[in-house]
Formats: sequence, structure tokens, C-alpha cells
Amino acid sequence: MTLHPILKEIASLFKTKNRQVYLVGGAVRDMFRGKKAQDWDLATDASPEEVTALFRDSRPRGKVIPTGIKHGTVTVHYRDHSMEITTFRTEADYTDGRRPDAVHFAANIEDDLSRRDFTMNAIALRLPNGEAVDPFGGAADIKAGIIRCVGNAAERFAEDGLRPLRALRFAAQLGFEPEQATLDAIPGALDICAKVSAERVRDEIDKIISSPLPSKALLLMEKTGLLKLFLPELAACRGIDQKGFHCFDVLDHSLLACDYAAREHYPHEVRLAALLHDIGKNPTRAMDESGIWTFYQHEAESERMTHAILNRLRYPNALIDTVCHLIREHMFHFTEEWGDAAVRRFIVRVGEPHLENLYQLRRADAYATAKKEPSPGFLLPLTQRVEQALAQSRALSLKDLAVSGKDLIEAGIKPGKVMGIILNELFETVLDDPAENTRERLLFIAARLNQQLTVQ
Ligand code: ATP
Ligand code: MG
Repeated sequence: MTLHPILKEIASLFKTKNRQVYLVGGAVRDMFRGKKAQDWDLATDASPEEVTALFRDSRPRGKVIPTGIKHGTVTVHYRDHSMEITTFRTEADYTDGRRPDAVHFAANIEDDLSRRDFTMNAIALRLPNGEAVDPFGGAADIKAGIIRCVGNAAERFAEDGLRPLRALRFAAQLGFEPEQATLDAIPGALDICAKVSAERVRDEIDKIISSPLPSKALLLMEKTGLLKLFLPELAACRGIDQKGFHCFDVLDHSLLACDYAAREHYPHEVRLAALLHDIGKNPTRAMDESGIWTFYQHEAESERMTHAILNRLRYPNALIDTVCHLIREHMFHFTEEWGDAAVRRFIVRVGEPHLENLYQLRRADAYATAKKEPSPGFLLPLTQRVEQALAQSRALSLKDLAVSGKDLIEAGIKPGKVMGIILNELFETVLDDPAENTRERLLFIAARLNQQLTVQ
């Protein structure tokens, strides 16, 4: 395995103080998978103070940031590279809700590796020569594509309730399989999983959704009870049958939509929207007179529920707003009968910046109906009309009107409620007919409206 020359240089720095340093964690795992190592995590027997002094005195100097000094971690920027360097530890700093966080520094690399979660994450490469320290058979598990806890799975999960979710996230991310004992220990750990902070859960869900096949983790979550714990609204979609063109229940449909969005490299917002766009179908399901399931207004209910879920998982508000907006708008029904004004109203309602994302969501939704690729011409009639409308009319928001509020004040209209109504009315007029968007016409209409509204 070829090690980056800078890692070798760092090893010689540690050597001057008679200290050991190892490459550990995800970077080693990636190298054993034949992938380029991403972030560097280093482990050492030097104390954080010693590491700080080492890079203060090195040539060139390294910049040391005490990111997690109480857990023995510092972040070092050295020659354009950034890395986390952690003193050998025996305890994780992860709160399990039962015990205060504590760190105990370990004597050697083997002890440090034994606190790590999975065998594939518990291999160290000794620097500078790259000799592997692999006490738990991590390399063999990587080769076989197996996720296995270091030691007893139930005990390891009891120490940190995030680990079960991490195991399933790695399954989706790497295409690995959790080993049976590891998987079997998850249902018994759910009480501990429930204590993990929402932010940590969210970060794992994000990684699942960013993986090539999110359903791999989500189905395992369902099987082990983690889905019911963290996304009960989605778990409740199992067995909710749909009729018509749909071949799957709402849960499988949602997973397929999310897989498609991931496969097509759609943005994160679209992947989340694809996963959650139909969760409102469960509470809105009703049978009509002819015995067919209906889901009236499910998009509004899905939006409401998505808002609650993403808030609970502490997603940023801007992302919540975008996902909810896409879900609210996902049920548009374009037909050739739509007039130009209807197309313009659609653009205004969705918002130009969201159009592409909404099309993506619809493609994912269409794919997931019967697990069939949408045809290349899918949505084409709509997208063409939208493009035409955009080319013809730039008056697609209040500020594109040929008159401003200031113009109206100059024309004698008082600022306030009436002016708001007038501006909206002018905008509606221009949406109906862009040819009306001239200063002269709009001032004329505004004066007439002002008269009507102030007489009343
Ligand atoms: P990625 O960066 O893709 O999430 P990673 O394996 O680098 O993968 P990190 O969260 O960066 O994961 O953690 C680095 C290493 O720290 C892991 O490889 C593992 O050895 C250890 N580790 C991380 N989280 C835990 C945990 N919850 N319990 C035990 N060990 C952990
Ligand atoms: Mg990492």
C-alpha cells in the first residue's frame, strides 16, 4: 500500500520525540478497499500537548487547532493537508445516556483499536512503513464485505447507541453486509439507540441518503426496528397498498423513489423529498364508493409530516423549507390544455430555482410507481412550455412589474393595505397577459382599482 509522502514526513517528526504514529479509521478502510483515502485520522502515544509542541517547532510549522482536546484530539494543518491526531484512548467519548463521558488514554495501539466500532474500522497502519496492525481480522472482513462489531455486538451497542445505525449506514455506503450476530444485536439495543442525539442520527441519515443505494440501509433499519424508532411515519407506510398504476406499497414506493434519486445523483433535498413525498398517504387514505383507495390532499399532509420529521432531526430551516415546498408541489397535473397563463402561474408557484428539482422528484416518483425507467420524453411537453414561457415573459415576480410601489405613490396611491392589493392585482393581470406589463397600462389599471377600493 502506498502511503502519501507527507504521512512519512509526519512520522519522522514523531520519531524525533520517540513517539509512534499510525494511520487509522476510514482512511485505512478505504485503502484496503482499493480506494483513495479521504480524511486522515492519526493515532499516537504522544499527548495532545506534545503533538501541539511538535508542530509548533516543525519546519514548516503546522497549525494546530485544539478541536477536541478533552478527548485527546487536535486538528493539524500541515503542508496543505489537514488531519485529526488523537492520543491512544480506551474509551469512546460518545454519550450513551447512562454514564458521563470520560476518556482514558491507552498504553498502546491495540487497546486503542479495541474501542473502535467495527473490525473494518479497527486497523492501523504504522507510519512510516505502513505495517498493518489488525488484531480483529478487519482486512479479511473488508475483503469479504462484512460489517462486524469489534468484540461482543450487544456490549458494543450498549456503549453507544449510534453504532447500530452506523453499521447499516456503512452497509449502504460500501455495499457490505452486516454479519448476523451484529444484525441480531440491534433489536435489543433500541432503548439505547433512542438516547442518541438527533444531530448524530441526522448525520447518519444524511450519509444513508447520500449512498449509492439508500434502500439497503433503510430496509435493514425496518427489519431491526431502527426505522420505527427514528422514522416511525415512514415505517407506518408498510402495507399501505395503492391501486391504479402502482405496483408497490407506500414504503417500497418511497424507497424506490429515493434509490432512483440517489442513482441519478440528484441533490440532497430531492433525495429527502423522494423518500418522504408520500408519507401523508397513510393518514389520508380512504375508500371511495367503488372500493378504490383515495389519498385526497396527501401532499399537504406529507408536507406537514415532513416538516415535523425534519425539525425533530434538527435539519436546517432552509433545507426543511425546500424539501417541504417540493413535496407540496409534487402533484401537478400538466395537460396540453394548460393555457400560457396556467404555465406562468405554475412557474410562479414553484419558483424558477426549484423547477429542475421538482422535475427530478417527479421522475423519481414515476420510476417508483412500477420500477420502470421514465421515458426520455417524460415531462417534456411541460418543460418545453415552461421554457417558452420563460423566454417570452420575464414578468414572473412582483419586482418585474413595469411599475413599482414608488411609482404608485407618485400617482397618488397611499402606501398600505390598498397598495398591496393593487400590486397583487397588477401582477395577476400581467400573469394573464404579459402584454399588459407597460407603465402606461399598469398606471391606468392601478388608478381605476384605487378608485374602486377607496370608494368602498
Ligand atoms: P466516515 O468518515 O465515512 O464517516 P470513518 O470510519 O472515518 O467513516 P468517522 O466517524 O470519521 O468514521 O470515525 C473515524 C474512526 O473512529 C472510525 O473509523 C472508527 O474507528 C472510530 N469511530 C467513529 N465513530 C465511532 C463510534 N461511534 N464508536 C466507535 N468507534 C468509532
Ligand atoms: Mg472519517
